[in-house]
Amino acid sequence: MDCVSTVPKTSGVYALIFRLDAPLELRVGRLGRRTLPAGHLLYVGSAFGPGGLRARLARHLRAQKRIHWHIDALTSVLSPVACLCDASGRRLECSWAQRLAHLPDAFIPIPGFGSSDCRSGCAAHLIAFPPDSAPDLDAELNPSLILTCHEYTRSNRNRSCSWGIASPKSGSQ
Ligand SMILES: [Zn+2]
Repeated sequence: MDCVSTVPKTSGVYALIFRLDAPLELRVGRLGRRTLPAGHLLYVGSAFGPGGLRARLARHLRAQKRIHWHIDALTSVLSPVACLCDASGRRLECSWAQRLAHLPDAFIPIPGFGSSDCRSGCAAHLIAFPPDSAPDLDAELNPSLILTCHEYTRSNRNRSCSWGIASPKSGSQ
């Protein structure tokens, strides 16, 4: 089964959505041992290399990998529940991170997480929302593709999931 076969191989940006039912302690590279809060976490990244969005998301969904980026520490132990993508090739990464960070209830759990190379002044590319918060991400980011992991499992080992296009959009509104 291929979780990401519906994802285009084009360049673009994405926001991985994670749900944490309890705080999670992680070792995050040079940032050291940190604790992520319960609730929803959104990680914004970009994929402008070979294989584009599909290759990058496939990597994020794989538990076994060499830890390279901050986000690898999280995706090694937790699968995202959904992913929003923009496949237009525009470099929206920092725009998305800052839009999310300015939503009501949003907060930065680990300053500097995922933003080591950021030149736009983002506090981090990982944004957290409390468990009872339900931001309208679709309206805020207007993604071109929304992928939902229908058979999401909390088990670290069981990565069987199927992605579907929940709300495809094309072009401008
Ligand atoms: Zn940024």
